[in-house]
Amino acid sequence: SDPVLEIRGLRVDYGLGDAAVHAVRDVDLTLHRGEVLGLAGESGSGKSTLAYGLTRLLPPPGVVSGGQVIYHPVDGPPVDVLTLSPAQLRQFRWAETSIVFQGAMNSLNPVHKVSTQLLDVIKAHEPKTTAAGRLARARDLLRLVGIAADRLDSYPHQLSGGMRQRVMIAMALALEPQLVIMDEPTTALDVVMQRQILGQLAELRERLGFAVLFITHDLSLLVEFSDRIAIMYGGRIVEEAPAAQLYRRALHPYTEGLLHSFPALRGPRRELTGIPGSPPDLRAMPEGCAFHPRCPKAFDPCDKKVPALGAAEPGRDVACWLHPVAAPAPR
Ligand code: ATP
Ligand code: SF4
Ligand code: MG
Repeated sequence: SDPVLEIRGLRVDYGLGDAAVHAVRDVDLTLHRGEVLGLAGESGSGKSTLAYGLTRLLPPPGVVSGGQVIYHPVDGPPVDVLTLSPAQLRQFRWAETSIVFQGAMNSLNPVHKVSTQLLDVIKAHEPKTTAAGRLARARDLLRLVGIAADRLDSYPHQLSGGMRQRVMIAMALALEPQLVIMDEPTTALDVVMQRQILGQLAELRERLGFAVLFITHDLSLLVEFSDRIAIMYGGRIVEEAPAAQLYRRALHPYTEGLLHSFPALRGPRRELTGIPGSPPDLRAMPEGCAFHPRCPKAFDPCDKKVPALGAAEPGRDVACWLHPVAAPAPR
């Protein structure tokens, strides 16, 4: 397969030395060209930290303390994003990857029309185009994300939150990215909006061919709209699988718990049990499998040794002592 991004052994801490909180712990994750990869997990599991870390947009006191983030450009050799100079990084970030972060819709400038802001982005990306060409492109981009071209003359406050978010996506797409990263807010109210946006992104990537890393706490959305799903718990990826397979049969008890936290999309009704207990305290992580204090299936090795993420079945990775895995692939 054709990777666009390979995250290897990524570690992100908040703070230094003994005071460091390890928020992302040895994460391995591969994003393939043109796919939608969903990342889910409870609040505090490290999803945003992972996204900020891999794009080097971590605010202090966040530090990437280890690992590699290998980006494969369409042409040219792969680069480790973590070793790029600031100038190279700017080029990488704007030309190849578009990031739409939590609350990004509020980062539109309130005093400028949507048209002005979108045209500025297009001009920065394609300085040689004519004004008429840029306007045509702006209209096309808005149409792509389902906004009528007559909205170009609106100010941000005249648009709904969902529309502002779609304007941000239009701006992201103006850069013709290979990779779009979206980190969605976790409030329940936004789920309707998230569903629209993710549906639209999934459709657009079929036409435009970019890969999407979509981050949400809402696993049901991902089941519907993504190709693969990765589940995060206590800073680690604990399961990764094609979306349909993960929905049909979760291997990790935590994933199972998440699946029982929302109503079945189709097929027999599932009992809604949720997950008892609360996420681990990163400053006092349980020994062994971080999930063991909440796990209904915990057994002998679980409170002693951390299970490694590995392939339990072809294309399915899990980190759980219930599932013997092949040795991790050499790096
Ligand atoms: P949510 O679903 O709520 O967005 P998340 O999975 O994105 O959660 P992160 O925001 O990445 O989680 O946070 C991961 C962990 O890092 C949390 O335990 C959080 O308390 C901790 N953390 C985040 N920012 C900081 C910071 N500036 N200083 C110290 N710890 C932090
Ligand atoms: Fe549960 Fe043990 Fe698997 Fe952890 S390793 S999820 S505690 S069975
Ligand atoms: Mg977050």
